[in-house]
Amino acid sequence: MSILRLAIPSPLRMEFDYLPPVNTSASQLQMLAPGVRVRVPFGRRETTGYLIAVIADSHMPQSKLKAAIEILDDTSLINPTIMSICLWAAAYYHHPLGEVLTAAFPVSLRQGKPHKPLGEPAWRLSTRGKGLPEGALGRSPRQAQALAILQQHQEVSAAKLAEEEISNGIMRTLVKKDLVQACTLEKLPRLATSHDGLELNDEQSQAVTTIKASLGSFECHLLEGVTGSGKTEVYLQLIAQCLAEQKQVLVLIPEIGLTPQTLGRFKARFNASVLTLHSGLAQGERYQAWEDGRTGNAHIVIGTRSSIFAPMKNLGLIVVDEEHDGSFKQQDGFRYSARDIAVKRGQLENCPVVLGSATPSLESIHNVELGRYQHHTLQQRAGGAQAPALSALDVRMQVLNAGFSGPLIESIEDTLNRGKQALLFLNRRGYAPTLLCHDCGWMAQCRNCDARLTVHRRSRHLRCHHCAHSAALPRHCPECRSAALLTAGLGTEQAEDFLRSKFANFKLHRVDSDSMRNKNAMADLVTSINTGEPCILLGTQMLTKGHHFPGVELVAVIDADAALFSTDFRGEERMAQLLTQVGGRAGRESDSGQVILQTHYPDHPIIRAVLEQPYAIHARNILANRHNAGLPPASSMALIRADASDIEVGEQFLLELRKQAQSQLPTGTVLVGPLPSPMQRRAGKFRSQLMLRANSRSAAQRAAAILVETAEKIPGRALKWSIDIDPQDTF
Ligand code: ADP
Ligand code: ZN
Ligand code: ZN
Repeated sequence: MSILRLAIPSPLRMEFDYLPPVNTSASQLQMLAPGVRVRVPFGRRETTGYLIAVIADSHMPQSKLKAAIEILDDTSLINPTIMSICLWAAAYYHHPLGEVLTAAFPVSLRQGKPHKPLGEPAWRLSTRGKGLPEGALGRSPRQAQALAILQQHQEVSAAKLAEEEISNGIMRTLVKKDLVQACTLEKLPRLATSHDGLELNDEQSQAVTTIKASLGSFECHLLEGVTGSGKTEVYLQLIAQCLAEQKQVLVLIPEIGLTPQTLGRFKARFNASVLTLHSGLAQGERYQAWEDGRTGNAHIVIGTRSSIFAPMKNLGLIVVDEEHDGSFKQQDGFRYSARDIAVKRGQLENCPVVLGSATPSLESIHNVELGRYQHHTLQQRAGGAQAPALSALDVRMQVLNAGFSGPLIESIEDTLNRGKQALLFLNRRGYAPTLLCHDCGWMAQCRNCDARLTVHRRSRHLRCHHCAHSAALPRHCPECRSAALLTAGLGTEQAEDFLRSKFANFKLHRVDSDSMRNKNAMADLVTSINTGEPCILLGTQMLTKGHHFPGVELVAVIDADAALFSTDFRGEERMAQLLTQVGGRAGRESDSGQVILQTHYPDHPIIRAVLEQPYAIHARNILANRHNAGLPPASSMALIRADASDIEVGEQFLLELRKQAQSQLPTGTVLVGPLPSPMQRRAGKFRSQLMLRANSRSAAQRAAAILVETAEKIPGRALKWSIDIDPQDTF
């Protein structure tokens, strides 16, 4: 008796047993490998499951088992390493294996469509065609010629036949006569080559030499290099070595960090197949990159978070660029950290992992301190540019015009007049974060969230930045009918209006997710900026990721106070990273870069630290504080969230969970809560959370398992709960 044990994408944390499809032979069953896709009935629908094992016995009585509909693959499309990574991730993040495995497949394969190899369309003889004696089709010279070619060469591409003036029409006639069949020619991997790299400085060269020595086995490296220190050049030279050894490379980048410039640098350096894998691609393009990585045709895959699950035939190196970036953590559904999985994957693939950043996460610095990661530093800017000068601009008592103080306006003016570019950072899109009534005090609130609606003046809308809610911009107050509606606070649209009127003779580029909706917007912008003419760049975080704008001399943070009073324990780390990254855009090819932080709190310890200490020192001070407070990475954390339409339901569920699980928890763990989430109502749900803190990762893992198991047994009416291991926000 053989039974198929499957993982099925569903919220249920369990495996599902099925009988093999009728007429499956014993030899077929023997060949089945884990990861093979199987079409099955599931509830009232059909779905695609993934084989975990063929087993002899089910704990279910056989009469209760349903038969699978179809086995979709002869061999598993994901290699054993990807299978192991998925098993590991499902266990570590306490997430259903079926949903984890889904992440390893492109959409069409998840939907159960047949696997299509990407080769060239070609033709070959059928069994009947092979038996036909030469010259048997005398009356049709073209058909005869086609058969003669196939007899000689076995499989011939349609393109080759076309060169001989044999059309697809002729071939289709031969198919009708059952003499030939269509097939695909496998793509042959090209040999990749690299052009010479730059001559490295001592720091770069030391990093490259040490990391090169670890190729071929697992080792994790933290490359901590100030902005503009030439980290990318280090990656490129390591990649060249990998390609020379005929191995593939996976490069992970933040969500919006793949700039046309970065891709251009890779393509210019290597004569190789460099593919990208991110959500901006069409389904077909993603499938192609996935398939080319899997079959070894792609040499370099550059992708965002989810590409950490992309199968690669012969992986030699994983690079995670800007490893501190928040977008490596998925914040809903399957809440995984692509950076952490990258390290695990390096272990399983037996290849080194390079985590690079100018502002490494405290987790990675902690791992260096524990001796788990090798540490490489680049403290000099490459090419000899000096680090920019940082200063605080005290705006107390100053007149502010759309958030701009007089001295800042002068600095911008001066920069432009000298023919240079200015980059102005404001991390809030829209026109203003608040709309209020001057007569009665009404404020525009989201009806689904504990949040105010943002005024978007260009599109004449009020929008919630936490849910999908939007409404037309009102002309009158809905409470008192007054027309005296005011905006409060500052967004990029408003700053844009002001700057355009003030600096009408200069170009201005606004860069935020509203203005960059168009696929080519960023590429066009970069081209325009690289002409080097004086201009103003105004934008959100989008401007800070990975860009290299050589003409930017002045960088100003319009509201450095915005992140100062965060309730999250990571607030200070985030702020230090952000300000350092923003500042790092200044003066990358000159010695007169300048960074100005507008603030009402010039003496605030965080502002002082950002100004006076390099990030490397500041970060280690913050880490020491985390140790003292027992916070991650000095401890491990997990968060159980409960969302419900009713205000009481979530909290009661978590209370019950706490009551039942408490006594079983291992020593060294504590539960905090349940508490309402900092934003209690979001997208129409009331949210509460229960926090687990543990003094070791293994204790946290054991405790999380108990919590999940207990939670599954508590009847949860009208409630959605989830667990977040190593949460990045407690929001
Ligand atoms: P990072 O990735 O650390 O921000 P980049 O690799 O983008 O830095 O390098 C910044 C600039 O310095 C780029 O223009 C790059 O071409 C240049 N550069 C990097 N390494 C060298 C080197 N060894 N010699 C000269 N210029 C270099
Ligand atoms: Zn009013
Ligand atoms: Zn909302």
